[in-house]
Amino acid sequence: MSWRSKEGDEGRKTKDEGLSFVVAVDLGGTQIRTALCDTNGNIIKRIATPARAEEGIEAVFARIVANIRALTDDWSRVNGIGLGAPGTTDPWRGIIFEAPNLPGLMDFPMKARLEDEFHIPAFIGNDANLAALGEQRFGAGRGVANLIYVTISTGIGGGIIANNHLFLGARGFAGEVGHQTLDANGPRCNCGNVGCLEVLAAGPALERAAREALRAGRASQLRALCGDDPARITGALITQAARAGDELAREIFARAGFYIGLGLVSLQHNFDTELFVLGGGVAINAWDLLSPTIQAAFDAYTMPSMRRDVRIVPAQLGDDAGLLGAVALVNEPMNQ
Ligand SMILES: [Zn+2]
Repeated sequence: MSWRSKEGDEGRKTKDEGLSFVVAVDLGGTQIRTALCDTNGNIIKRIATPARAEEGIEAVFARIVANIRALTDDWSRVNGIGLGAPGTTDPWRGIIFEAPNLPGLMDFPMKARLEDEFHIPAFIGNDANLAALGEQRFGAGRGVANLIYVTISTGIGGGIIANNHLFLGARGFAGEVGHQTLDANGPRCNCGNVGCLEVLAAGPALERAAREALRAGRASQLRALCGDDPARITGALITQAARAGDELAREIFARAGFYIGLGLVSLQHNFDTELFVLGGGVAINAWDLLSPTIQAAFDAYTMPSMRRDVRIVPAQLGDDAGLLGAVALVNEPMNQ
């Protein structure tokens, strides 16, 4: 399968080999981030604007176009546009089916619209899938042919790189690592299922656990840190309390780390990967608090022969992972 259009887009092969730039777009629920990059993953120029999704998809699309136009006026040297979107996409036809954080973005033919506008090839992917690709080509996974990227922030997403290719699944939806059911009696997840990794270990789960414990009368430094108002609990406060040795906060991270570790166990048993790259605000900001329990759960529950030499490391590219994944997508439109 190919990331190229099934309708026979001739893609990059017909383009001038001397071209050397890529336009990368990270379409998020709150921000549209765009960058002009060279094909080696160096960001030359970047422009970010609020998405203002409430104004509708045509307004959002007009802002994407305006951002891209402001990046360069020398289109002869741009190989293509890569765009990562939150939600479900058809990466071959370049259609975004739905994005919960961008209401009104339903069945939007992003590839075709960008190609009509700029007359160069455009490639579309799920944002977490592209972040996986970015980390593998330019970040923590350079030189590693098999890795699984997991981003842990307000939600949990990911991407699977198998034998140097982004694994897309039959319809392009693969890598929804946050919606593995880990507790059949667990809380209800946004996806409709129960006990998903996301509802057990993403940022809101940590905050919810802290609020419930405080409301139940549990002693904790968090009570003073939030001014005795559990509604004001944030991930940053829980991190601060845990670093200061607070028992409740440390338990909350240990529990989240345990579930993340269990998620990696299942992924390892399914995919036999070499490297797990963990990104997103929760993982990066609290790496010291989470990684020991993640590693312990992984070691305890993965079959011994399958955990040997597997590494679990923090992501390196931060918020730029998706942009650089978009560069990789245009560089190598994933013939697989
Ligand atoms: Zn779910």
